[in-house]
Amino acid sequence: MLQASRNERISGTMKALIKYASGNGNVGIMDVDEPHCGPKQVKVEIAFCGVCGTDLHVLHDTFRNFPPVILGHEFSGTVVEVGDDVDTVSVGDRITGLGATAVTCGECEYCRQGYFIFCSRRRGMGHGVNGAFTRYVLLRPDQVYKVPPEFSLEEAAMSEPFAAAVQAVVELTPTRFGDTALVSGPGPIGLLCLKLLVAQGIKTIVAGAPGDDERLAAAMRYGAYAAINVGRDDLQSTIQDLTSGRGVDIALECAGAGASVRGCLAALRPMGHYTQVGICGHDIEFPIDLIFYKQLSMRGSITYTANTWRRMMEIYATGKIQFDDMITAKMPITDWEKAFDMCLTKQAVKVLMYPI
Ligand SMILES: [Zn+2]
Ligand SMILES: [Zn+2]
Repeated sequence: MLQASRNERISGTMKALIKYASGNGNVGIMDVDEPHCGPKQVKVEIAFCGVCGTDLHVLHDTFRNFPPVILGHEFSGTVVEVGDDVDTVSVGDRITGLGATAVTCGECEYCRQGYFIFCSRRRGMGHGVNGAFTRYVLLRPDQVYKVPPEFSLEEAAMSEPFAAAVQAVVELTPTRFGDTALVSGPGPIGLLCLKLLVAQGIKTIVAGAPGDDERLAAAMRYGAYAAINVGRDDLQSTIQDLTSGRGVDIALECAGAGASVRGCLAALRPMGHYTQVGICGHDIEFPIDLIFYKQLSMRGSITYTANTWRRMMEIYATGKIQFDDMITAKMPITDWEKAFDMCLTKQAVKVLMYPI
């Protein structure tokens, strides 16, 4: 509800991509009230918001969501208004935002340690609370990250998925100069993991499935040592050839598929490290004895912490990672069906949408 007092401007309406009811589908463009900036809030005009697998899951109702809710959580934009109590953010700042912390309790053991993702009361933007496939969003100042001036707002919209890659590769996977890595699954997160590994000088092999040819070609452009289409080439014998029979030191599973999990476990050398980055969404079979016989270390990586975002800004400042070459298409939110379809059919690495 909007309530305008004497001195306040009456906000207009804006178009938004909304999940308007539970169940499969029930997504469409609707007119909603423009949000009003409170004293502790920052109002951002969205420049771009990326389409993510999570959006597809919300569309198909296979990811928890709370309709009616505006979709979209991978965004960049410009600050157009700040509340009276805000002094760390200014009008005109070019920003990206940490939407995942939109609602947290702030008091549980995980919130207090910075691991907000495990807060049972957490709700993120784009599924739990209103997201960024629209013109304006409201953020708290602590959710706002200013991007370097040389960074385009298109590139800044890659921040949310990139943060997930930063946690997986830089914070939770032990990498050493001279290592060989396997990234299995060349989706956007897998390719972002590749970029980080390449920037650290890690020889990286990328594996994909039939249908991934365009993304595997992109992997080679981003500096992969080799790209393997497991529909054409045998993963294990190719990896043995590429590593002189040794196997890889680290494997990042980014596909969320049983064959990929098994492929990573088989490709690892004894005492190698496995990081689970993809979501399978159902139980899979894999040879758990390999963890024993090879004495593998294994861990999962889900999203990121606020500290990951701080680190990501330092990585941006190095200028060593570029994202322009990952943005396949840009289109208005009214073309959302086309944008979603491009992601579903793997025609694109990343599709950005912008408000109208
Ligand atoms: Zn996402
Ligand atoms: Zn909490």
